[in-house]
Amino acid sequence: MAANQHPVRLRVDPVACDGIGICTHLAPTLITVDSWGFPIVAGHPLSKRDRKSADAAIAACPRRALFLDDLPN
Ligand code: SF4
Repeated sequence: MAANQHPVRLRVDPVACDGIGICTHLAPTLITVDSWGFPIVAGHPLSKRDRKSADAAIAACPRRALFLDDLPN
């Protein structure tokens, strides 16, 4: 995690997600897929590099199913 940046993690809303998997191509180190093609999201605090790919996946998600969750400092 970058200095002066509040810790966050990536989350997926499994109800909103359609399982097409655009996100896995944009954030392959953070998002894998299960046997049905639905995303499994790494739940750890995001590093600065992670945050860039997470932001790209969030922006590209057609169902707005990805979001950042604040973590305690
Ligand atoms: S891009 Fe969005 S809707 Fe598509 S699989 Fe990923 S989280 Fe689900």
